[in-house]
Amino acid sequence: MTPYRLARPLAGRNARPGVRSRQYLWNATRTAPQRRQLLTLAIETSCDDSCVAILEKTGPTARLLYHNKITCNNRDFRGVHPAVAVVSHTEHLAGLVQESLSFLPDKLKDTDNGIGSNTLYVQNGTGKTQARQKPDFVTVTRGPGMSANLAVGLNTAKGLSLAWQVPMLGVNHMQAHALTPRMVSALTPSQSAGDHTPGFPFLSLLVSGGHSLLLLSRSLCDHTILAEADNIAIGDLVDKCGRAILPDSVVAAESGTSVVYGRLLEAFAFPSGAVDYHYSPPRRRADEITPFDYSAGGWQLQPPLVNTRSMNRFDFAGLNGIAQRVVADRGEAMDVEERRVLARETMRLAFEHLGSRVVNALQDLQKSKQDGADSAPAVKTLVVSGGVASNRFLRHVLRSLLDVRGFEDVELIAPPIEYCTDNAAMIAWTGMEMYEAGWRTDLSVLVRKKWPLDPKQDGGILGADGWTNVNVS
Ligand code: AMP
Ligand code: ZN
Repeated sequence: MTPYRLARPLAGRNARPGVRSRQYLWNATRTAPQRRQLLTLAIETSCDDSCVAILEKTGPTARLLYHNKITCNNRDFRGVHPAVAVVSHTEHLAGLVQESLSFLPDKLKDTDNGIGSNTLYVQNGTGKTQARQKPDFVTVTRGPGMSANLAVGLNTAKGLSLAWQVPMLGVNHMQAHALTPRMVSALTPSQSAGDHTPGFPFLSLLVSGGHSLLLLSRSLCDHTILAEADNIAIGDLVDKCGRAILPDSVVAAESGTSVVYGRLLEAFAFPSGAVDYHYSPPRRRADEITPFDYSAGGWQLQPPLVNTRSMNRFDFAGLNGIAQRVVADRGEAMDVEERRVLARETMRLAFEHLGSRVVNALQDLQKSKQDGADSAPAVKTLVVSGGVASNRFLRHVLRSLLDVRGFEDVELIAPPIEYCTDNAAMIAWTGMEMYEAGWRTDLSVLVRKKWPLDPKQDGGILGADGWTNVNVS
């Protein structure tokens, strides 16, 4: 098990201009003062990445003080092995938390207010003890994800919350992907002056190893599902296609124990990057259903859901089945160039499938507005987040489709790659937004394997048990 990325301080610990005295806050304070400084330690263990972050937020501005992850060995199993991932979390999470504590801000002289100590005495690597500021609360991914994996993080967070006598927030992983661009704006000095951007409402396309969701995000906890996957997720499609299409030499050349098939497939399909795209978006809906013919190899790819008009569904299993059959049928006859064509065209059709649902949703919203529905929100932003959003060709396909279908004014926002894949920074940010809205999680809660975002499905985020709001008596 090797670290995915070595820890690094993302900001100088001592560079804290303008830091004011922090209030100790348990449930005693009902409304948070506007510009008080908040500090959280966050944990993410929903899949195979053990992630820890420390985030500080003062008014609209945030600073990431620590951000690290260790990904478990997936090379030997050609994918995520749930039990091995649990072992990896159990092995590595405590070490990451210990390492992170040295990145907490220095203890300020005036921060104790008499209710209790907000100082942590932390031992650094050389055995020296340092006084550090204690986080105001602990944030952890409560779901959705693999139960046993989530439980390692949740139980660690409960332990920290108890030991430090601070609240815990158990947040929704998919909500965190949707809010990530708001964190990025808060972390960017030139953008962090006013309200967090993008402001609500916006469309969210969440594309990850376990999810393909198109959402209308109206507020922190209100994310209406406009389209979701029928069967496998888009990340599963790229991983399965990566395993089948990539020549063995490409996977073998990847060092370390963590193989990200989606990233390798993109690099293989477009070795020179954007100059290899040669992409013309379908100008009309009818153009989206044209099959791709590769006559030299005698195969054809059918776009997903050509025969239905189910604009609220994604179907990636059919396309995956065709791609797998092509590889199996062609066998040894398939050279590297043919594999590259298959990789490109499979991604193109899958990404256009995502884009067609986005365009349809925007057209529907536009129509409702034209028809005079006052409640129809004016959406000006499309957020693309989750591991597959790292794919630059996906971003290009979506941008091109928006432009050619009359939505040039819709801004496409995708977080930097390190925040697209699973990470604890986005969990910390979600904790910040939920904490500022008054939410706290009871320490008796269990993990949630499934946890819908849409309030119409079991109450969505707030439909889970264990929430209390300190602003509501
Ligand atoms: P997540 O579940 O959000 O951590 O996302 C993991 C998924 O993102 C996996 O299926 C990866 O293969 C996929 N992924 C990561 N990077 C890329 C990329 N550049 N292109 C396509 N998929 C990717
Ligand atoms: Zn994820």
